[in-house]
Amino acid sequence: MKITELFKTDQRTYSFEFFPPKDEISAVDFGINVGTLLKLAPSFVTVTYGAGGSNQERTFALVDYLNNKIGLNTMAHYTCVNASKEKIRTDLMWLKEHGIENLMVLRGDPPKGETVFKVHPEGFAYASDLAAFVRSEFDFCLGGAAYPEKHPEALDLDADIASLKKKVDAGCEFLMTQLFFNNERYLELVKRARVAGIECRIIPGIIPLTAYSQIERFTRMSQTEIPEGVLDRMESYKDQPQKIYQIGMDFAVSQCRDLLMMGAPGLHFYTLNKSRATVEIFETLQRG
Ligand SMILES: Cc1cc2nc3c(=O)[nH]c(=O)nc-3n(C[C@H](O)[C@H](O)[C@H](O)COP(=O)(O)OP(=O)(O)OC[C@H]3O[C@@H](n4cnc5c(N)ncnc54)[C@H](O)[C@@H]3O)c2cc1C
Repeated sequence: MKITELFKTDQRTYSFEFFPPKDEISAVDFGINVGTLLKLAPSFVTVTYGAGGSNQERTFALVDYLNNKIGLNTMAHYTCVNASKEKIRTDLMWLKEHGIENLMVLRGDPPKGETVFKVHPEGFAYASDLAAFVRSEFDFCLGGAAYPEKHPEALDLDADIASLKKKVDAGCEFLMTQLFFNNERYLELVKRARVAGIECRIIPGIIPLTAYSQIERFTRMSQTEIPEGVLDRMESYKDQPQKIYQIGMDFAVSQCRDLLMMGAPGLHFYTLNKSRATVEIFETLQRG
């Protein structure tokens, strides 16, 4: 089912992001975690597409499996990296023939070892160009990415929102955000997007901080601001993983509660293929 069909009846959606398991052991682990997460009856799930197209086959196989064998409403991520129009056409035809109706159109990051995104000579420079192409030849429901703390390459948030508007005008029907921890950033993004004439749903992307090592990784990867209070508390317990986990969970629950109270149209969880934290957040939110 197209995700936009869900929007007609579901005021809020709850969705999970997965990535294709890298080997047999991770696949077993993944199966156990998906089994657990299924009990939460997500509105839809999404599967990432690897940098440089490295795990493209596994992405497609997993999308097919989740959508057609497990019966989850599944969205495939797809990027412009190393993709000519012809390749995109072939890939999307495959997805279409396998009953996939939802596509997250992305530019993608440069492949490992490269620092600058290289446009394929017969491909696209931006997600908006990919969206326009897909829209002209296919009937997928299209999602796109949004950045509460602006995309790292954008000059400022205004420039990034101008690009976001192009993406929506080109055919993206909803947006999912990059992970963030400061809800004010999300509110500001939504406010400015509305002023720019972007009316579609902007679903916040949530990642619970469950380990001290994640802090450095997330701030480096996406230049994400972590509230001082959380940082200080984690810092003082950095040798106590259980305590760190609890601080992270308490913060994630209050972040989700606030977002829903502020009117967010759902929550999209970056599960990292794990289930424990997402299940605990759900159960706590349900208890009120
Ligand atoms: C929800 C989500 C899911 C993701 N999933 C994946 C995944 O599965 N695989 C993966 O490899 N990566 C994924 N990413 C990461 C994403 O590929 C990178 O952040 C990438 O650097 C940008 O992709 P984009 O689609 O946002 O690019 P774009 O929207 O094309 O933007 C890229 C940059 O160009 C600017 N820009 C955009 N359009 C224009 C224009 N017309 N003119 C001038 N400037 C413009 C933007 O402001 C931005 O700075 C995901 C990100 C998010 C938030």
